[in-house]
Amino acid sequence: MPVGTPAWFAPALAEVNAAFAAQRLAHGLLIHEDPGAGGLELARWIAQRVNCASPDRAPCGECQSCKWVATDQHPDVTRLSPEEDSEYIKVEPVRELIADLALTAHGRGYKIAILSPADALYPNAANSLLKTLEEPPAKTLLMLVTQQPSRLLPTLRSRCSRLRLPGPSRADAAAFLTASRGAGPWEEALAATGAGPFALLESDAKDLAELRADTLRTLRDIGSGNLQPPAVADKWARGELATRLACVESWVTDRILESAANRDATHLSGSGLAPNICRLFELSDAVRDMRKLAHTSINKAMAVEALLWRWAKP
Ligand SMILES: [Zn+2]
Repeated sequence: MPVGTPAWFAPALAEVNAAFAAQRLAHGLLIHEDPGAGGLELARWIAQRVNCASPDRAPCGECQSCKWVATDQHPDVTRLSPEEDSEYIKVEPVRELIADLALTAHGRGYKIAILSPADALYPNAANSLLKTLEEPPAKTLLMLVTQQPSRLLPTLRSRCSRLRLPGPSRADAAAFLTASRGAGPWEEALAATGAGPFALLESDAKDLAELRADTLRTLRDIGSGNLQPPAVADKWARGELATRLACVESWVTDRILESAANRDATHLSGSGLAPNICRLFELSDAVRDMRKLAHTSINKAMAVEALLWRWAKP
């Protein structure tokens, strides 16, 4: 972990500490994280917590076990994620994992598996995990990290105890990134992606902030009729499209929340809805649909143009 344990982990850590102290920590934990909230880091913390050599200070972060977990080198802790060329966690590594979990631990602690993201499990790979969750060997801990629990097999979900990890406020996220990466326009960078700070640990804050400013300028000009969608569609389609779409979605979401807050504040004084709230919702739906399609072989320039026409001055 870059700098200490993030403050927003506290409720989840308290839950795990209480369960562990009462010796009722589940064998299967489903960590449901908000995007970029740090679910994998939380899973690592739990792995350190249960296998730390200093029971009074667990996790101490300094013993051999804690250090091995932090660098993914612990012989009793396996992390499975999709291989570089694939979107999926394949069957073979899961079978190897299950065989390994049945063996005795190298140390005196738990045998642990972290699957992240668990929704990347191939369905038959997920199936083969069921038996392990039903009859877990003693001192086994399986952690499934996901942003979308609904994409996991219901039978897998129901065998796990759920641990929720909500993301931090944008200000807290920016403070965390400043502490771990140094000063930068982190609030704008976070607003560009709409995700939490762990999604930005490798990102350049300045680049993201500039891309967001450019994207919002374009939206403003299109909304006011000073720019026509065909003039920018190619540019958007050629590069950074996914980030631009994330910028648009995050901006629209912020505006919708703002309109809702203003409506509540002005409700009693008789003001109506913000006039463009319907357009905001339309744009929000359209950009969400397009984000799902952006990695397919659709004609991106045409799709961008269609999207921006929705926002053009009527
Ligand atoms: Zn330790």
